Amino acid sequence: MMDVSNGYFVISLDFEIHWGVFDKKSVAEYKENLENVKLVIPRLLELADKYNIKLTFATVGFLFAENKQELTSHNPKLLPNYTDLNFSPYNKLDSIGENETEDEFHYASRLIDLIKQTKKHEIGTHTYSHYYCLEDGQTKEEFEADLIAAISLAAKKGISIKSIVFPRNQVNTNYLDICSKHGITSYRGIETHKIYNTLDRNFNKKQSTRALRLIDSYLNLTGHNTYKLENLNTISGLTNIPSSTFLRPYSKKLSMFDSLKISRVKNGMTHAAKHKELFHLWWHPHNFGKHIEDNFKGLEEIFIHYKILNNNFNFNNVTMEKLASLV
Ligand SMILES: [Zn+2]
Repeated sequence: MMDVSNGYFVISLDFEIHWGVFDKKSVAEYKENLENVKLVIPRLLELADKYNIKLTFATVGFLFAENKQELTSHNPKLLPNYTDLNFSPYNKLDSIGENETEDEFHYASRLIDLIKQTKKHEIGTHTYSHYYCLEDGQTKEEFEADLIAAISLAAKKGISIKSIVFPRNQVNTNYLDICSKHGITSYRGIETHKIYNTLDRNFNKKQSTRALRLIDSYLNLTGHNTYKLENLNTISGLTNIPSSTFLRPYSKKLSMFDSLKISRVKNGMTHAAKHKELFHLWWHPHNFGKHIEDNFKGLEEIFIHYKILNNNFNFNNVTMEKLASLV
């Protein structure tokens, strides 16, 4: 039975390093952000510990590999046949290093071990290859092959995958039965407000859409994007745990508005706590790789606010897997 005597706070992180941006930016173009992930993850774990917060790390499957041999030996039987060849990371495998020591941008086995050792946080999947479920050319069979690869490489580390975050938030509801078949119980959906619609590919790409989303991070344009637990949908066996908001990285240009951004998050959390709803916050560890201090300062404010809401309203922080089990 679902417990609706309190609201819930979920945090998911799309853990991907260069695999999340390989089709947009080279390592050199985004180096500071990417190389500092190795500092961001331990610090995140430490801060989470201080406030007793449980995180869900939706992790790209490639990152689990100890070395290139292990990575290539787990490659799916069917590779994604994107019409736009740029979306496939497989032709880039030749250029990556042999292991994490040599190439911290494409491997993260030790960081994953660090997360796992805490025995607190959830490690979910962000697919094996940062797979784009709505792009032209790829098929459901190719998606399944990718998912099997992600699950089997995680299993080598003793990690059982229960949650999925779809890369670029390309939720393809036709693929949910495949996820369910392989033991996944939840996914992160998109906000219900139409400006967050990633399904309409053209609308999603528009400059004006991006501008609206940016403004919405500072000023309340779309409401709190919180959800009543009894309204969470379970589709093909997976619980949709929709996003409330993306935690934008600290921006020097917008620094004078940064407190507005943090307040916007805190107001959403308060709304969820008071109305016994879900607030789901997400970002990427590499977002914190630049302006590390400012980003962590904002996050700590959010965690302190969680503590207050936890005390006053029994607002409860759980992983995605745990929330799905409650619904
Ligand atoms: Zn991603």
